[in-house]
Amino acid sequence: MKSFSKEKFLNTGIPLRNLNALMFFLAVIISIFLIIAMRKTISMYEHTHETTQNLNELRREANDLQVGSDYLTEQSRCFVVIGEKKYLDNYFEEANVTKRRDKALQSLQEYRESSEAVRELSKALTESNNLMNTEYYSMRLAIEGYGYDLTEYPEVIQNVHLNSTDLSLPQHDQISKAADYLFNNDYLIAKLKITNSMQSCLSKLENELDEEQNKVATKLRKQVAAEHILTFVLIFIVLGIVGLTSWLVFKPLRKCVDYIRNEQEIPPRGAYEVKFLAKNYNLMCYASKETKNKLNFDANHDELTGLFNRRGYEFFLKNVDMEKATLMIIDIDKFKNINDTYGHDIGDKAIKKAAELLRCSFRSQDYVCRLGGDEFAVIMVRTDASMKGLITRKISLINETLGKPDSADGIPSLSCSVGVAFGRPGLNVKELFKRADTALYNAKENGRNGVAFYNKRMVSDPNQ
Ligand code: GH3
Ligand code: MG
Repeated sequence: MKSFSKEKFLNTGIPLRNLNALMFFLAVIISIFLIIAMRKTISMYEHTHETTQNLNELRREANDLQVGSDYLTEQSRCFVVIGEKKYLDNYFEEANVTKRRDKALQSLQEYRESSEAVRELSKALTESNNLMNTEYYSMRLAIEGYGYDLTEYPEVIQNVHLNSTDLSLPQHDQISKAADYLFNNDYLIAKLKITNSMQSCLSKLENELDEEQNKVATKLRKQVAAEHILTFVLIFIVLGIVGLTSWLVFKPLRKCVDYIRNEQEIPPRGAYEVKFLAKNYNLMCYASKETKNKLNFDANHDELTGLFNRRGYEFFLKNVDMEKATLMIIDIDKFKNINDTYGHDIGDKAIKKAAELLRCSFRSQDYVCRLGGDEFAVIMVRTDASMKGLITRKISLINETLGKPDSADGIPSLSCSVGVAFGRPGLNVKELFKRADTALYNAKENGRNGVAFYNKRMVSDPNQ
């Protein structure tokens, strides 16, 4: 099994790919939850709105039972008192066709199958239906009193049996008695019962719907709170991604650039990938330094001066980016005369002095080589023609120092001539050397003790 320890994790760093996948996964999950929560909130809001609308609708419907019942009372009373058949027709139109009372109960039952409110409304309907029997009786007695033809009236009226007392009354009294049935105390009490049941139904309905609305409102509050939490988590994740990316990638990368510029080892920090780059850069640097050191101490260094010899010089020509480097060829002036006048040993000392001066005059990353005899080469890495002034100053300082005779060592006054050529894209090493050599030839031709920068108008050495 793959072992995982905090130490190992800190050492190797968090892999960006894993971190990225984790953050992406978290963001997707939270976003999905947020979308679901938002949809749920919308549907809850719609449900609350619907509940309120239903309450108003049911209130209206339930009220219709009272209206229907009152209409029946009114039409039956009108028929009994006035005696016009149209009122009786209106009565049966309401009872059998319009059916406001039945429809009210049906609507309520459809919305809430069993509840206190439904029971109350159904009680009101039963009471209203019971009252209809009194109304049928009263209307049947009125027909008798008015002496109308019973066969022209609905069967339900025809089927009503009048009691013998009412039948024996004179017609005028029959009408009065019929009216009495619809206005007496019993009738009014029954009507009041219907009204009470109705009121009770409405108040129960309101309670039930209030309760439901409260439940929905509580749920809605919880839902909105959950939505807020999810939004905060999402914001936290986004900020986390920004912070982690900056901490693990941007900041370490910025530091890497600084270390590379200062040619320093990069301390591995940040994400696994950045650490990987830093470690590999350090390794390559080390390998490069090692190679340089090895070259110094191998057969590639010059015994007399300690500088790179021609072999080393050729290695650098092959491995350094010469398109972005400057090549200088340096030759001591009239060196043969020194040998001839002061002897070979003094000549050697003079070469060493010149070599040491050159080594000290250039940067550590530049390569100073002795090509042989009194000839040297300097490869200045990452330089271009903008360095002309600096090179001129360096050479004049070198010549100034060489010009001072060294009485302790017996080295006489010396000078050197320098030819310089700048690398450029597409210019091969052979051509670059030729240019530097041509420039050197011109420096010698121009009286020595100085520097010449190659240009196309220069005449090349006829002996080359
Ligand atoms: P120029 O100004 O034209 O360069 O004249 P020069 O006399 O310096 O001519 P050149 O550069 O051709 O002469 C180089 C001389 O350096 C030839 C040789 O005698 C001498 N020489 C070569 N190697 C050594 C060495 O290791 N030690 C000493 N003392 N002299 C050397
Ligand atoms: Mg010479």
